[in-house]
Amino acid sequence: MSNPQRLYLMQVAYSPERNIPVVCYLIQTDDGRNILIDTGLPDAFTPPPGLNPVMDKNVLEQLAQIGVQPGEVDTLICTHFDMDHCGHHSAFINAELVIQRDHYVLGQESPRFAANRAEWHRPDARVRLIEGDLELLPGVQILRTDGHTFGHQSVLIHLSESGPVLLTIDAVPTQSLFRANRQPSPVDEDPVAVQASVQKLLDTVEREGVGLTVFGHDGDQWKGLKKLPEYYS
Ligand SMILES: [Zn+2]
Repeated sequence: MSNPQRLYLMQVAYSPERNIPVVCYLIQTDDGRNILIDTGLPDAFTPPPGLNPVMDKNVLEQLAQIGVQPGEVDTLICTHFDMDHCGHHSAFINAELVIQRDHYVLGQESPRFAANRAEWHRPDARVRLIEGDLELLPGVQILRTDGHTFGHQSVLIHLSESGPVLLTIDAVPTQSLFRANRQPSPVDEDPVAVQASVQKLLDTVEREGVGLTVFGHDGDQWKGLKKLPEYYS
């Protein structure tokens, strides 16, 4: 039986002028599975105006630090296909990609995701298309959180010491935006859906007794979080 044992947080880039980290995550289970959530920026790309991220070790280099080879990752949860979240998907050749069906369809049509399409839209990729929330395994729940984009995903992980940990990803990029009826940000696709997703995550925190909520791009919060090689257990 798989149960989540360790949660690693990786910061793979940082934009000093906007105080924005680019991040991804690894869950290790007690029976040796490696479940990756997002893969950060590609090594080469054209940054959006006003964002000049300083690259840190990429996801492959960070995983190597704890002895994990790309081929040992068996599951890759793709929260969404923005460039800062799927820059190295194609390196994980043995991983099954877990994606909302609606987002997978959108990804093939929308110019927003064109630059990085080759990372996840490959003939050899194993893709599991899901619809809505899913208990991936006991203690790892995928929560559908539309708004930032259609078919966006957040993740809830139950750890033995830390208790429930919520990764909001880009449904809530910073702590200051984690409140009911908040205004959408300019990068959000659907303002109404954003508010519903924020409410869904607020309800999740309440219902599950979440002790740690990790926001997707919160520079102030990330300065104080444990990062690989440290981990939450
Ligand atoms: Zn993002």
